[in-house]
Amino acid sequence: SPAVAAHEVPLSAASLSWIEHLVGTERVAQVRSGVRAASERLDGRTVWHISDNPVRGGVAELLRGNLPYLAGGGVLTRWATLDAPPEFRQFTKELYYALCGVAPPAPGTGGSAPGTGTGTGADIERGRRLYERVCKEYAARLTAAVDRNSVVVLHDHQTAGLIPHLREHGCTVLWRAHIGAALRPELAAPAWEFLGRYLPSAHRHIASYAGVLPSPLAGAGSHIVPPSIDPLSPKNLSLQPGIDPSRLLVAAGLVQDSAAAVPGTHAFSDLLLRHPVLIVRDGGPVPAQAPLVTQVSRWDRVKDIPGVIRGFAEHVDPAFGAHLLLVGPNTTGDRQAQQVFEECREVRSALGSRRDRVHLVQVPTDNPAEHALTINAIQRRSTVLVQKSLAEGFGLTVSEAAWKGRPVIAAPVGGIRQQIEHGTTGLLLSGPRDLPGFGQALNSLLEDRSYAEELGRNGRERVLRHYLTDSSVLNFAGVLSAAAQ
Ligand code: UDP
Repeated sequence: SPAVAAHEVPLSAASLSWIEHLVGTERVAQVRSGVRAASERLDGRTVWHISDNPVRGGVAELLRGNLPYLAGGGVLTRWATLDAPPEFRQFTKELYYALCGVAPPAPGTGGSAPGTGTGTGADIERGRRLYERVCKEYAARLTAAVDRNSVVVLHDHQTAGLIPHLREHGCTVLWRAHIGAALRPELAAPAWEFLGRYLPSAHRHIASYAGVLPSPLAGAGSHIVPPSIDPLSPKNLSLQPGIDPSRLLVAAGLVQDSAAAVPGTHAFSDLLLRHPVLIVRDGGPVPAQAPLVTQVSRWDRVKDIPGVIRGFAEHVDPAFGAHLLLVGPNTTGDRQAQQVFEECREVRSALGSRRDRVHLVQVPTDNPAEHALTINAIQRRSTVLVQKSLAEGFGLTVSEAAWKGRPVIAAPVGGIRQQIEHGTTGLLLSGPRDLPGFGQALNSLLEDRSYAEELGRNGRERVLRHYLTDSSVLNFAGVLSAAAQ
């Protein structure tokens, strides 16, 4: 069938044997046989994945990590993304905030305090015509390319409106929620009601953990597939011994050069050192030896970046000499992200002299592999990773940090609660807005480095057991086998 023009993401095949040295022969054999069973049941039918975008956020990261292993195991797999018009993106972002139980920004104010309320049912309903019109257009494009007997996996709220169209086309339709349960479910109810017009038409529903899907969808025919990280992706691959991630960050101008960092270190990646990634930032370079506290996230209100800045500036003891990095993708062409970035800038500027220890960092996404390697190096160079989100579907950044042996301090929301065992593999705050607790947790890890390292080591073990790609590939293959019957 023809490609969905300009929206299909090329996929390569990966072999499970590549991760055998990490997960062992038995696990690889089990996953292989699960994937083979799915491919036999599918009997030549293609599995299409449709998601919002190919680069930004956890869904893109997850599909990049998982799909090549399914393809490599014999499941005919294709992935297309929406290149949605701005008004659709604006509306689906509001829907996202509502699903998370977080307030959308008040129009014209550059944003209201998040978490104080959400769009009312009537506000959300006003977007239905636009949403259905755009979904109908996409459905027409997709049905021209997708065979009738395909299995189609639609990811998140942006694609829910495609369900009835693809079902009518004859496809087996699976809808997968990557969003988490809202802290206050009553705030998310209007958004779930909005989606309720489409979701029941899907054959099966998938969530990252129990308690996400509204009860009518959570029964038989629903599945739990926890996300995972790919240990071989540029985001997570380990550096050879002796390779210092600081080297790349020095080349990119993020970290000051220091004579001490140079001898005995090698190029993190020749390619990257020849073409250093341009890092756009607010705040001068980080001193070479400073402990780094880092949050990696999209510029999104749900990630409460202003809260991270305030918590750090107001509650972390300056005597540790730590610097805070807020790292996200470049905001070019993304008006909403740009708005959040500007708010963060204002919060930083208002800190007075303390702002010198706070750095806003935009890493360009033009070359996804370079981008991912840069994030990898930043995570490895960090002393502590934080994820102080107000809501979270899963929070891949938590597993990414833990896999690199870094301790994580995070808000007890969404899938983060599954990932972190408090006090053993990381530290959970009492709530997402607990700024003094956030500062205290940071002080404790900056003070007691051996405790921090122990959390990191345990965190890596936990990721190895539960959150590497092979686990979710096996789970997902099981869903495909069930759906293909
Ligand atoms: N990420 C990235 N570059 C950035 C910011 C985030 O590659 O500048 C990645 C991050 O490493 C993770 C994903 O985007 O893989 C975010 O996934 P998560 O589940 O934490 O949150 P989401 O963005 O889906 O809400």
